[in-house]
Amino acid sequence: MTKEQEVNSAGWNLDNSYGRLPELFYSRLDSTPVDEPELIVLNESLAEELGLDVEYLKSEEGVRIFAGNKTPKGSDPLAQAYAGHQFGHFTMLGDGRAILLGEQITPEGERFDIQLKGSGRTPYSRGGDGRAALGPMLREHIMSEAMHALGIPTNRSLAVVITGEPVYRETELPGAILTRVAASHLRVGTFQFAAGGGEKEDLKALADYTLNRHFANVDIVEEENRYLSLLNEVIKRQAQLIAKWQLVGFIHGVMNTDNMTISGETIDYGPCAFMDTYDPATVFSSIDRQGRYAYGNQPKIGVWNLARLAETLLPLIHDDQEKAVEIAEETLSKFSQLYRKEWLEGMRAKLGIFNEEQEDEALIEDLLQLMEKNKADYTNTFRALTLNKLEGMELFKTKEFNEWYEKWQGRRKRQEESDESSNDLMKNSNPAVIPRNHRVEEALEAAEKQGDYSVMERLLDVLSDPFNYSAVQEEYCIPQDPSAGPYRTFCGT
Ligand code: AMP
Ligand code: MG
Repeated sequence: MTKEQEVNSAGWNLDNSYGRLPELFYSRLDSTPVDEPELIVLNESLAEELGLDVEYLKSEEGVRIFAGNKTPKGSDPLAQAYAGHQFGHFTMLGDGRAILLGEQITPEGERFDIQLKGSGRTPYSRGGDGRAALGPMLREHIMSEAMHALGIPTNRSLAVVITGEPVYRETELPGAILTRVAASHLRVGTFQFAAGGGEKEDLKALADYTLNRHFANVDIVEEENRYLSLLNEVIKRQAQLIAKWQLVGFIHGVMNTDNMTISGETIDYGPCAFMDTYDPATVFSSIDRQGRYAYGNQPKIGVWNLARLAETLLPLIHDDQEKAVEIAEETLSKFSQLYRKEWLEGMRAKLGIFNEEQEDEALIEDLLQLMEKNKADYTNTFRALTLNKLEGMELFKTKEFNEWYEKWQGRRKRQEESDESSNDLMKNSNPAVIPRNHRVEEALEAAEKQGDYSVMERLLDVLSDPFNYSAVQEEYCIPQDPSAGPYRTFCGT
């Protein structure tokens, strides 16, 4: 068998439709090869979904592809250009350490970006080395797979290889490359790039491409103003996504416009983390000193980012700018309603409620307030309510909680569905386990310091079935001892 045929037999079926956009949107280049690649993680079930041959991916040749040392057949490697507001400040960016190999077309005919992250310098690297360290790549692997298992739209992680080369941050660290799989890497920042650096025709090409790639099945394309429909659709997906984050206590940590996708998937797992104690002001990221991206601010930041997207689309929405602004504002104003509806629906489900009553909002807000006041663990409060095991937490000992509990029981009786269905709804809506920060750190430390990946594998296994309420999950539910001090995340570049 020749090498080329071997690559083909891996199941790679790549196209690169993004590479047919006007040239300003990318720079064609290869990854920079690395010394001694070694496969550390392979997501076998994802590989199968993508139509890839698992055994082949594990072979020397398969690993060379994940390392950027060999280009798979059909690949058209490139780095994408984009811009973005980082903590409110506009900057020209682009893939500074990533290469898009192409789009894998699955046996089901779906299309997914295959991107190597940590693959070397590109024209967008600015001062960076184009590389990534092992810890942050494994962190992205764990967090994105946990989100996927929680049913939250996210990019995924197919493989992690170590490069055999060190990277230099504050100390010397092992280098790694993550293979990321995403519906696409189109971002709010891609539109900002088009609006800032291109002609109207370029912007139009990007918008048409996006409509075709992500919204072809939605009948919006028939509507009178297709670009307004594009905005509408992204608003809808982001409202749904951010509501899902809030419902599980996920804090993204760096909601810059370049880290917000058009597809509605979660992307860029830098300093993200799950909230333990319920507090809307929770921030983990060490660089977010003002709390711009705090848990309670995420919906507001979502709409702020979408306003940046709307601005880029103005010339396509209406020739008269004033009219365009008026239409865009009206469209943006739908976000909060959409978000609230999604969040309320999710919260009702977390409390085992099927039908709607006016007072539900107050019932939910009251519980959240009590949780905040009593410093209750967010996930474990809902877990305890689901299991009806109200023990061990200060919250459950308070008179106020007991009053709330009676009200809640009364509310659950005012629906047709049985108690059993209500319990099932709660089980399916309240994860029994989330990636607790100290558990993630423990897994990363074993991997980085001892080359022991078994701690991470066990964690991934527990996180892969969060609604199962199994005995093995129990030890993973215990929050970190508060005496360890506040948890901090770092940008992870
Ligand atoms: P992020 O904070 O991961 O969203 O990245 C922001 C920007 O910095 C993007 O343009 C990245 O491609 C770029 N970047 C991050 N780390 C590196 C690195 N080590 N080398 C080059 N560019 C980087
Ligand atoms: Mg980013």
